[in-house]
Amino acid sequence: MFLTITTTGTPERPATDLGYLLHKHPGKAQAFSTSYGTAHVLYPEAEAQRCTAALLLEVDAVALVRRGKGKGRGGAPDAVLAQYVNDRPYAASSLLAVALSNVFSSAMKGVCNARPELPGQARPLRVEVPALPARGGPDLVRGLFEPLGWAVTAEPVPLDTAFPEWGDSRYVSLVLESDTLTVAEALRHLYVLLPVLDDAKHYWVAPDEVDKLLRVGEGWLPGHPEQRLITSRYLSRRWSLTRQATERLELVRLAETDDSEVEEIDNAVEAETEAEEKPTPLAVQRREAIVTALRQAGAARVLDLGCGQGQLVQALLKDPAFTEIVGVDVSMRALTIASRRLKLDRMGERQASRVQLFQGSLAYTDARLKGYDAAVLSEVIEHLDLPRLPALEYAVFGSARPRTVLVTTPNVEYNVRWESLPAGHVRHGDHRFEWTRAEFRAWAEAVAERHGYAVEFVAVGPDDPEVGPPTQMAVFTMTTPKEAKAA
Ligand code: SAH
Repeated sequence: MFLTITTTGTPERPATDLGYLLHKHPGKAQAFSTSYGTAHVLYPEAEAQRCTAALLLEVDAVALVRRGKGKGRGGAPDAVLAQYVNDRPYAASSLLAVALSNVFSSAMKGVCNARPELPGQARPLRVEVPALPARGGPDLVRGLFEPLGWAVTAEPVPLDTAFPEWGDSRYVSLVLESDTLTVAEALRHLYVLLPVLDDAKHYWVAPDEVDKLLRVGEGWLPGHPEQRLITSRYLSRRWSLTRQATERLELVRLAETDDSEVEEIDNAVEAETEAEEKPTPLAVQRREAIVTALRQAGAARVLDLGCGQGQLVQALLKDPAFTEIVGVDVSMRALTIASRRLKLDRMGERQASRVQLFQGSLAYTDARLKGYDAAVLSEVIEHLDLPRLPALEYAVFGSARPRTVLVTTPNVEYNVRWESLPAGHVRHGDHRFEWTRAEFRAWAEAVAERHGYAVEFVAVGPDDPEVGPPTQMAVFTMTTPKEAKAA
């Protein structure tokens, strides 16, 4: 199996600089032993105007079996034979990717002590991989490389040239060309995407692969349109690792996003929390009321819709009865803060597998929200303009349809009891409305009626005989499953 990297140059920027970039002298052929065979680096051409480096990996198929997965496995005779007679020696796969990272490790990091200015410079590059196993075919190959700035030629390789009627094999012959990438970027793309396309790792994927993926994916993987597929295949579809990686990539992307509108909301939330927390920690009482209602409902898999900065998610994580907790918010910044609060990046695998944060708007139906036991909307509805409320109603009660839904919102009647609040004002700037108990009740009962739920009301905070409690909570319980509802 092999690949070549070619660059062109000028007398001022000779193509032979490739030798510096790869830390391999163009004048000599070198061999490196790896655990699966020998990797050779040689330069079929090395002129100022054009220079090509080839990485050729001679795989020892027997060593591969001895060390690898096939060891000790029984099975049909042809399966045993397949351990020895397979495509591994010829096809560019995870073995080639590992060889790349062994042989060109400094180059991949973009380090060149002799010529420190070189690694940062983009140059014309052409990468050829004559036999690339590509699960997903030429379309996926393009979908993976084109967003990174490569012009892609991916020709399917026929199964057997003597029998064209047999059709194409799962291999493509790949040519990548770009003028805008550095050699380090090219190597990192290949290191991740070759095994992703092959989709069959030769080694056990350990948790530290997530770190490796994030390191090598820095600068190009966050925000890649196929990020999910890349992550999942790279991590051999190990679900908890994939999720960990996805969350961490999302954070990187969030950190790079500047969202001032959200800042306003966050500031408002902080202001509200401060105003409320002096007399009674109402936010805490609210969370306790929610956790209690969730326990009573027997919910294990819970959505926190409009999770804000993740305080409720954090509280839920402390109770093992909640096996899966998903925080959703429209605000990137809130999610970033939430993930810092939860220390998602330092969480053990087991804990991390229980929690997930993602960005989404409750004004749209979202398939990711289906199939949960319960959904919480804590102090969220009043942040939507009234005309948008039916959209939220449909997304939650019509589409996601958890068995239990908890909705909390301020009781505007109680506002007269806030000493610091001028008469006639809502509790803070981002509240689009605040309802009386009767208004909330009317809305909640109509929603329940429309979607096949029963609803009960719970007071949160001191229940004032005149004006009621500061927070009102509606507990919806599904009475009519969707199928019956549709019928
Ligand atoms: N649930 C948290 C935060 C409430 S503040 C708590 O109880 O403390 C309201 C949150 O709703 C904010 O984080 C805001 O970003 C979010 N939000 C507002 N509109 C939204 C929408 N359309 N979709 C999802 N989240 C929304």
